[in-house]
Amino acid sequence: TSEVLRQAQKMEAVGQLTGGIAHDFNNMLSVIIGSLDLLGRRLPDGEARLRRYAENAMEGARRAATLTHRLLAFSRQQPLNPQAVDLNKLVSGMSELMRRTLSGNIRLETVLGGGLWSCSVDANQLENVIVNLAVNARDAMPDGGRLTIETQNAHLDDRYAAADIGIVPGQYVLVAVTDTGTGMSPEVMAKAFDPFFTTKEIGKGTGLGLSQVYGFVKQSEGHVKIYSEPGRGTSVKIYLPRLVGEHDVTDQIAAALPELTD
Ligand code: ADP
Repeated sequence: TSEVLRQAQKMEAVGQLTGGIAHDFNNMLSVIIGSLDLLGRRLPDGEARLRRYAENAMEGARRAATLTHRLLAFSRQQPLNPQAVDLNKLVSGMSELMRRTLSGNIRLETVLGGGLWSCSVDANQLENVIVNLAVNARDAMPDGGRLTIETQNAHLDDRYAAADIGIVPGQYVLVAVTDTGTGMSPEVMAKAFDPFFTTKEIGKGTGLGLSQVYGFVKQSEGHVKIYSEPGRGTSVKIYLPRLVGEHDVTDQIAAALPELTD
């Protein structure tokens, strides 16, 4: 658990720092983007080249704004808004978004578990997390491959907890994102969750994707684990606590089933 603590402290320190910087940059970028927009509109029709300069500047400013938004999301300026989530529905609803995220040479496979429990999480943030994992998977498969998204009910028992740091035994809903890409060396895997750790070239990676995933999962009182083998691929498994109570739709359906089959 000292490893979990160390990671949490690091996340908090970096989060506060980046949050402050990102906030100020965001304000400056709003001024730049607003002014460029005005400039573009006021340019006379004949000025094609000037218009292109303005568009290039705008494009750069927009990319910078995307980065500051990611930094702000990472530093957790916005609180989580947990609700009862049907993970199968959430994953099915993402197929269009996935198609746009992945390149044509990557085959997407979804394996949805039957009788899946609900979980209590922020649905938007969970979508972001799955997109982050899909982007990483895509980047790890430049020559194409297969991306699998799998959901499943999972019991983590004491034995599992004993073998793994920070695991709380109990019932979870598992979502696993698996690729057939490059995989990670043990050195990369050890640092993968660290904020700003990236092996990607400048402009392509921020090193915030997995630390965002880690932050979300910890705030949701879940667990995340990476399995990876160089040359074979990577699987990121996220365990989210099962939602129990009157809002658990799948339980209600299961309870009603014997009557239906009678
Ligand atoms: P980024 O994607 O911006 O580099 P991340 O925090 O998402 O930041 O990932 C950190 C690093 O972990 C990546 O640069 C890459 O080296 C490694 N990594 C993450 N996901 C995968 C994956 N699916 N396959 C191989 N390596 C990965």
